[in-house]
Amino acid sequence: MKIGGIAPFTTIDFPDALAAVLFCQGCPWRCGYCHNPHLQSCSAKAAYDWPRILNFLKMRQGFLDAVVFSGGEPTQQPDLISAIQDVRKMGFKIGLHTAGMHPDPLQTVLPYVDWVGMDIKAPFDDYEKITRIPKSGLTAKMSASHILASGVRYEFRTTVHPRLLTIDDLKRLAEDLIALGAHHYALQQFRTQGCGNESLTTVYQNVWDDALMEHMKKSFQTFLIRE
Ligand code: SF4
Repeated sequence: MKIGGIAPFTTIDFPDALAAVLFCQGCPWRCGYCHNPHLQSCSAKAAYDWPRILNFLKMRQGFLDAVVFSGGEPTQQPDLISAIQDVRKMGFKIGLHTAGMHPDPLQTVLPYVDWVGMDIKAPFDDYEKITRIPKSGLTAKMSASHILASGVRYEFRTTVHPRLLTIDDLKRLAEDLIALGAHHYALQQFRTQGCGNESLTTVYQNVWDDALMEHMKKSFQTFLIRE
């Protein structure tokens, strides 16, 4: 496992649980608003070796409920399942954050996961304008379908920057998710922290309004907003 960073304690990365987050090194997509660009390089060395991570988690047994594999992109890691099994044996629940660019590895890992949060970047036909990778919407759609078919607890969520997504985009995106059978969705406001793209960090204003909020509340069983 290539771990590029750790958040030792968080209350917001796994629902209703105290968790540590392991940030996996490497992501093949290039979203302009990425707030962990230092984790994108797949060739960068790991900041922590796996035995050190396990020692760290051993000291947190009894204090934390869950460990979340985040990124970067965890499903990029060939030994993700064995790492999850190591952590599960220690008594932690397992969370997974993914952008869904690797549907087959994601499908394989889902039975080992207690909760998954998947970023939905845009309406599936418009993914490339966020990820800068052709056909990325196809793989994301397949991954979202795998999550829904798995029965694992999930949240789909979208980071919103007004230069990248309009209200109409968000409505189309919601339609895409509803067509797949999704019930749980969140919108989260873009944050400047960590983002190295000045064209996005210097001009920013909220895109959503009350009408959109009402639309989303009616469309999903669970709808959250994070500002
Ligand atoms: S998918 Fe996530 S980690 Fe990868 S570039 Fe986009 S925001 Fe960054």
